[in-house]
Amino acid sequence: MNEPIAVAGRTREITAGLKPAALEDFYRDLHRHPELAFQEHRTAAKLAACLRAAGYDVTEGVARTGVVGVLANGDGPVVWLRGDMDALPVQEATGLEYASTVDGVMHACGHDLHVTWLAGAAEALADARATWSGTLVVIGQPAEESGGGASAMVAAGLHTRFPRPDALLGQHVTPGLAGFYPHTPGLTMSASDDIDVVVHGVGGHGSRPESTIDPVVTAAYIVTRLQTVVSREVAAAHSVVLTVGQFHSGTKHNIIPAEARLSLNLRTQDPQVRHRVIGAVRRIVAGECRTAGCPVPPEVTLRPGYPNTVNDTALDGQIAAAHRELFGAETVFDFGPAMGSEDFSLLAPAGVPYDYWYVTSTPADVWEAAPGTDLAEKIGKVPGNHSPLFAPDPSVLVPGVRTLVSAALSRLA
Ligand SMILES: [Zn+2]
Ligand SMILES: [Zn+2]
Repeated sequence: MNEPIAVAGRTREITAGLKPAALEDFYRDLHRHPELAFQEHRTAAKLAACLRAAGYDVTEGVARTGVVGVLANGDGPVVWLRGDMDALPVQEATGLEYASTVDGVMHACGHDLHVTWLAGAAEALADARATWSGTLVVIGQPAEESGGGASAMVAAGLHTRFPRPDALLGQHVTPGLAGFYPHTPGLTMSASDDIDVVVHGVGGHGSRPESTIDPVVTAAYIVTRLQTVVSREVAAAHSVVLTVGQFHSGTKHNIIPAEARLSLNLRTQDPQVRHRVIGAVRRIVAGECRTAGCPVPPEVTLRPGYPNTVNDTALDGQIAAAHRELFGAETVFDFGPAMGSEDFSLLAPAGVPYDYWYVTSTPADVWEAAPGTDLAEKIGKVPGNHSPLFAPDPSVLVPGVRTLVSAALSRLA
């Protein structure tokens, strides 16, 4: 990835420096060696080595495994490019020649692609530094998958130790026929919160329920009643998901346990709706426990997760226009806000605009074979992020570098 570069077109880009084979080797190696949140040592070292070779001033260990590379290239705006690096506790089932070699760990969200894109873009922009001025800051973020990696980097001084950005940019691989670049101005991803519930009953012998207060039955009523929050308490115009992901209680067939534990996940797109839903959860849990006669009030613990991701409209418009010009007007479209969540926005200091877009990656043969006739139908049928079968088409490697490079150049002087 070190050849001379060329710059052409109204939308500036750099393509001659890209070596697809080198990108693919880099990507396959990362895919074979996935690392979980805050354990991305090998991944971070690879990224850091690539940045150093390209002339960046590299700081490693920002929030344990985070990497920050700075390329100061004269006066002009400061642009931050971010890629997340962590893999997931998923057993890969793709059967790919370059499948994970780590038992039970897989790059099932495509963060290996993100790191490869970041490294490729960093290198291409460094090679082409004669054509732009400003400062480029390249961020390899640990622990995006509910790990709090962005907050940890901010706590480790991301906002004070490095040049303050004029814009923060990032992208995510997503299912959909490879070759599209969805952009959503404004709200693009939802807020996520976890809620832990503990129901305190009275345990006893399974043959004598009259001497107990059964927390399993009470928790079951809670799970059922929670299904009415979205359907009966939230206006149809709002998008909300409330999922009970865990229900734990008991140890044996003939013992009525003393407590039950529920783990909830909430996705919202509006702070007032979020507030209202959290209130409804508290009310329903308390009400069911009172109805059952629980001896002690339940515990409801809110664990705030990631906030809404709200793209700067003007910035998104500018970058979407660049991508339209590069790849064709039909390749950029808006599929509206997703219920997924990201900690990307937490990397931006207050008031700094950011933009986050998508790169579709489903191989054409997989897409064609999926049942359904339209995008919405097919997209649910092809392996998506977090699936053990998620296998992005390597054909998106070069386009994903070009989207980042052109986005950065559209902001740099
Ligand atoms: Zn993910
Ligand atoms: Zn992800």
